[in-house]
Formats: sequence, structure tokens, C-alpha cells
Amino acid sequence: MTEQDHGNTDADLHIVGVTKRFGTFTAVDDLTLTVPQGSFFALLGASGCGKTTTLRMVAGLEEPTAGRILLGTQDVTRLRPYKRPVNTVFQSYALFPHLSIFDNIAFGLRRRGIRDHAKQVEQMLHLVELDGYGSRRPAQLSGGQQQRVALARALINQPQVLLLDEPLGALDLKLRRQMQIELKRIQTEVGITFVHVTHDQEEAMTMADTVAVMNAGRIEQLGAPTDMYEFPGTAFVANFLGQSNLLAATVTGVSGDDVLVQAYGERFSLPAARCRLTAGTAWLGVRPEKLHLAPTPDAVPTGHQAVRGEVTDSSYVGVSTQYLVRAPWGDELTVFVPNSGIAAPLAVGSEVVVHWRPEHAFLIERAPDETVA
Ligand code: ATP
Repeated sequence: MTEQDHGNTDADLHIVGVTKRFGTFTAVDDLTLTVPQGSFFALLGASGCGKTTTLRMVAGLEEPTAGRILLGTQDVTRLRPYKRPVNTVFQSYALFPHLSIFDNIAFGLRRRGIRDHAKQVEQMLHLVELDGYGSRRPAQLSGGQQQRVALARALINQPQVLLLDEPLGALDLKLRRQMQIELKRIQTEVGITFVHVTHDQEEAMTMADTVAVMNAGRIEQLGAPTDMYEFPGTAFVANFLGQSNLLAATVTGVSGDDVLVQAYGERFSLPAARCRLTAGTAWLGVRPEKLHLAPTPDAVPTGHQAVRGEVTDSSYVGVSTQYLVRAPWGDELTVFVPNSGIAAPLAVGSEVVVHWRPEHAFLIERAPDETVA
């Protein structure tokens, strides 16, 4: 069946060429993206990159300077906030302190004149695992519980899109990690499109089906979390999503299925399938957990890429030991070694060989004059 046979089945959120200027300052710069209906989408970026402004434009709290926002085929760009099938959960819960939890959750339904709402409220309390808490006041709940109430209150109106603006920002780390899993569970259960704004890369990667990394009002890269991590498209994304070792390299050619590169006088290769480019200047990148250490060149497995170095620092961080290894050209490579083995930690000053599987490296574009990622 085509969309035409069925009428408008597209309930995706479309942001089309949206720009927002405050005076002469451009906070969001010609942004275009589509959030598929029912997906968990994260807008990820450092403070000030334009995430909240984007969210506020979708909510109708800010008017775009240019561009359009559509829900399915409906253009909502100029629609007043309360007329949009969209709800927002803020970091600051914004619960009514004088109302019970039940009445906080029922608020939206009452405002729409729906009187017979007890069952719906109870269902929401159950969804956010707060059965039996209806008669309490917000001050009698923990921060995490209050955030669940804010979520229930936003979901009870069954919005087409739920916007979440750093909703877990006020929670301590342990509770935040728990709530990330909870939010994901709730989103899967209700099937509503969630657009979640965060500056925490781990949070975005834990929860979202799709992550858009924003930088200076623009999208740097958009994709599934694993693809973005394993295969970053820019040095910014490589550094923003975890740690990377990025070597300023030059592509020297292609041999069979491999791309050959040279960095600081050393030669390396990696599968062409891992490369976005086959000529010119590039960053050759390998994540620290994909690097291994061997005592001598003989101990390096066949086919691995290798570089000699000297351990300059080691830090025990429980699950792994993080080593800094100075490469022959003077830069330090970061290597994470899992602490599951029985090997004694390597002393500072040890001579080692850093090695990796060629398919664990990636290659991204670099301007010829760029030497620091
Ligand atoms: P944070 O994580 O700190 O909230 P953000 O990525 O959400 O950051 P925005 O709040 O969207 O960033 O702000 C983007 C830029 O626009 C910032 O430089 C901010 O100072 C500016 N900005 C936001 N709102 C206004 C406003 N009403 N007037 C002027 N400048 C604004």
C-alpha cells in the first residue's frame, strides 16, 4: 500500500533548513533533519551548540528566523505551542508543589475538560513505576521520582513527539544511569517519538536509536550510536564520542582492498571499506580500547599494524589500566588495557610495541594545514 492510498501515514518530525538568529548571532544554522516516528533521537553537543534552541523551536517556544518544521505533512512552524501535538520535559521537573502527584499528572487532561481520568492517571503511575504514590506531594519524592512524575504528566496527553531537555541533568550519576535505562524502556513501551537533548555522550549512546552530534548550530554527523563511535565522520565527532588517537596522515595509495597511509614517516594500511577517502590528507584514528601492547615486535600478531613506543604514564581505573605511550615522533598514544588478565602492570619507562588490527582503524578527512585534532 502506498502512502497515497492510505492518506498521510508519515508522522515523522521534519526540520527543514531551520535557522535561528539572536541579533547577529546564529544559534542554529540551516539545520535539516528528520526524526522517524517512534524513534528515540538524541541531539548531542557541547554547551551552547544550539540543542535547546532547536528543541524550543519544535515546541513552539521560539520562532525560527528561517526554515520550516513539519509533523508529517502538517507545517507547524507558526502554530502556537499548545496547538502542537508536542510536549516537553525539562530538567527542572516544573511540578506544581501544592498539588498531589495524582493531580500533577492529571493536570493536562483536566485542562482539556476530561473529567473521567482516574484510570489514565493510574496507568501512567504504573508506567513510571510509581504505583501508590498518587496522594503524595512532589516534596515527598526523590529527584528521580519527581522526574518520573514530570514524564508521566507529559505523556498522559499522548503527544506525537516528546521533547526532553537534559531531563536527567539534576540527578546524581548512579540515578542518571538507572533513569537512562528506564527512559528507554518507557519509550519502547509507549512508542512515542522522543527527542532528547544532552551533552553527555554516554547518555545519548545508551538510549538513542539515532544520535545527531551538533557543533556551532550545525549537525556534524547523524547516525546509529555504534556506527558513529566505530566510524566517526569528523575529528570533532571522534573526539566528542569518547577518546581517540588521531594521527595526521597522508594517503599514499590503494593496494587491492587496502588503503595505504603514511604518518610521521611510518606506513600503515587499513581496509578500503573503513575509509571515506582514498587520497589526500587524513586523520588515521584508532580508539584506545582497540590498541594492544606487546613487549617486543615478535609478539605482535601477524597482520597487525604496529608502532614502537615507551610508556610514559599508567593509571589504574578499575576495569582497565590507561597507558600513555610515547610514539617515535613524540606524540602520546592512549591505550586502554582491560584488567582481566594476570599480567603485572607495565612500569613507566617500559619499551613496548603498540599494535592494532587494521580493520579497527578509521580514516577521516583532514585539511592539509590541520595538525592538531
Ligand atoms: P546548553 O547545553 O548549555 O543548554 P545548548 O546547546 O542547548 O547549550 P542553546 O541554549 O541552544 O545551546 O544556545 C545556543 C546559543 O544561542 C548560545 O550561545 C546561547 O547563548 C544563544 N542563545 C540562546 N538563547 C538566546 C536568547 N534568547 N538570546 C540570545 N542568545 C541566545
